[in-house]
Amino acid sequence: MVDLIEARKLTRFFDLGGDQLVHAVDKVSLTIGEREIVGLVGESGSGKSTFGKTLLGLHDKTDGEVIFRGEALPQKYRPVDFQKLATKMQMIFQDPYSSLNPRMTVGEIIGEGLRLHFSLSPSDVKDQVVDWLEKVGLQADHMSRYPHEFSGGQRQRIGIARALILEPEFVVCDEPISALDVSVQAQVVNLLGELKETMGLTLLFIAHDLSMVRYVSDRMAVMYLGSLVELGKADEVYFNPKHPYTEVLIGSNPEPDPNIEKGRVSTSIQGEIPSPVNVPCGCRFANRCPKVLDVCRENTPELIPLKDEDRLVACHLVS
Ligand code: ADP
Ligand code: MG
Repeated sequence: MVDLIEARKLTRFFDLGGDQLVHAVDKVSLTIGEREIVGLVGESGSGKSTFGKTLLGLHDKTDGEVIFRGEALPQKYRPVDFQKLATKMQMIFQDPYSSLNPRMTVGEIIGEGLRLHFSLSPSDVKDQVVDWLEKVGLQADHMSRYPHEFSGGQRQRIGIARALILEPEFVVCDEPISALDVSVQAQVVNLLGELKETMGLTLLFIAHDLSMVRYVSDRMAVMYLGSLVELGKADEVYFNPKHPYTEVLIGSNPEPDPNIEKGRVSTSIQGEIPSPVNVPCGCRFANRCPKVLDVCRENTPELIPLKDEDRLVACHLVS
């Protein structure tokens, strides 16, 4: 598989002032191959959205690099970089309610990128917008309506059309279905799957629901407090997790909470997530880990390959 995009020790901190630095994403390395779907999971606040946005240049990088088709992207994007890269990389946002401008018609929203990035006549833009409305299961006459006239699932289809009309190669889908009713989640996932196939897209699919991630992804990456703790084939990570955090996350811990549906992020993990402002020494999961050893509180485990397995794990207990 040809590499499409690679994060090399990608780091993004947020400066809150007064020595308060949020370690949202801390030295994350991940390579995504052409036409691959990598699922990214982890509890809320683990840095998934920040990682996705930093990959796309929507946040400046604090440190590290992003390589796209062998070329290092700028540390900080200038307007001309956004201009150049918008047609290569796009984002589909979590909340279809707040991510669409309520004062623009659906046609203006979907066509905006085309108008900004290509010199097309208004009628060419309109033709493409109509084409995309149909591709995402909406209708041509929806063009002149406003976002509030649509359901959540329809709005997410509008968000998908807006991102994909530019024919990007790489798309970050940031929890694209978590704001939707369960009944429409599968429809939107299936639509993304079809478009992925027909367009040859490469996706970073961020989600809360591990069973959904297993279903859509080739590989699964597990993030905790700004770091990757496990990475491997989606099925293998899901059915045979190696990191204690992944185990509790998918609810396969020895004392599963019967109230938690398997595959949903478990809220039964003991202890509090440490503050990303005061990241603990050693393994970041140590204070909550059911298998913690002394070494875990002292040395930070590296994300390293397991012997004889196509899996990376950052844990002193696993090798
Ligand atoms: P996730 O998407 O996994 O829920 P986020 O990437 O949104 O996690 O957040 C990771 C951490 O960074 C959280 O502690 C969050 O509060 C913090 N964070 C995110 N965005 C900002 C910001 N713009 N300013 C300050 N802190 C932020
Ligand atoms: Mg998020």
